[in-house]
Amino acid sequence: METLAFIGLGAMGYPMAAHLAKNRPTLVWNRTFEKALKHQAEYGSRAVPLEEVAEAEVIFTCLPTTKEVIEVAEALYPLLRAGTYWVDATSGEPEASRRLAERLEAKGVVYLDAPVSGGVAGAERGSLTVMMGGSEEAVQRVRPLLFYAQKVVHVGPVGAGHAVKAINNALLAVNLWAAGEGILALVAQGVSAERALEVINASSGRSNATETLIPERVLTRAFPKTFALGLLVKDLGIAMGVLEGEKAPAPLLRLTREVYEMAKRELGAEKDHVEALRLLERWAGRAIQ
Ligand code: NDP
Repeated sequence: METLAFIGLGAMGYPMAAHLAKNRPTLVWNRTFEKALKHQAEYGSRAVPLEEVAEAEVIFTCLPTTKEVIEVAEALYPLLRAGTYWVDATSGEPEASRRLAERLEAKGVVYLDAPVSGGVAGAERGSLTVMMGGSEEAVQRVRPLLFYAQKVVHVGPVGAGHAVKAINNALLAVNLWAAGEGILALVAQGVSAERALEVINASSGRSNATETLIPERVLTRAFPKTFALGLLVKDLGIAMGVLEGEKAPAPLLRLTREVYEMAKRELGAEKDHVEALRLLERWAGRAIQ
């Protein structure tokens, strides 16, 4: 049985690596090493120094941005072995990842971008969607090892997975913000947010924001921290790069990026992305309730 390795035991990586460890011998490394030791104790993975990760046949990364992926790839570079596959679950940057793939190819290492959607809950359940960029052969090789996934879609060559992920998250951002604006106006008119959502969610205006995020996190005032606002703003920046690279018309997505940049400045990058609606609430002088 091949040995796997997972780098980056954050909100997503920790549960994703657990699914690997349940199915294959799995090495784990994390910058804050206590998390790796905790993972070892909890799931029977093996916490190792970064250099030992190079011994795995398939290396997974789930780091904040492509910058950190490049950093660990450079640290590991002298030790990497030909025939290794690198599955990058980071929501990363297409162009920089294509350059990284070329650099790894010189060592005989095959890089695939494989970002995920489905959130922390999906990572825990093992029901993530994976969008893969890479050759058909490489996708076929690693596909059976994506134990955290329910759906895997090969979307194109290296970089295509990152591009699809960025656009998906731009749509999440649009839906969340737009729903917030609309519901706040209805609340001002005396319609409760709960009643408004009851209608919207049985109608054509619904989205994951209205069906899940707003009812479970805003109406309850729970605002759990699962996906940092700073990471969503990062994804909006990547989406802009994709749109501008193709000279695609995108006034709405451009504006969306601006409002989330504003929310990040006002609220802080470490806040949960759903808390962006708190800025709208502040402007409106009332809560979504
Ligand atoms: P977290 O901030 O929870 O975790 C980040 C991980 O990266 C931690 O393990 C952290 O280590 C590590 N890390 C940060 N900087 C460095 C560095 N310089 N060198 C080495 N390791 C580093 O992020 P998430 O798990 O939420 O997100 C990871 C990726 O997944 C992002 O690209 C995000 O956009 C994407 N994503 C997130 C989703 C979510 O719902 N949270 C959903 C889908 C995709 P340490 O423990 O030491 O801080």
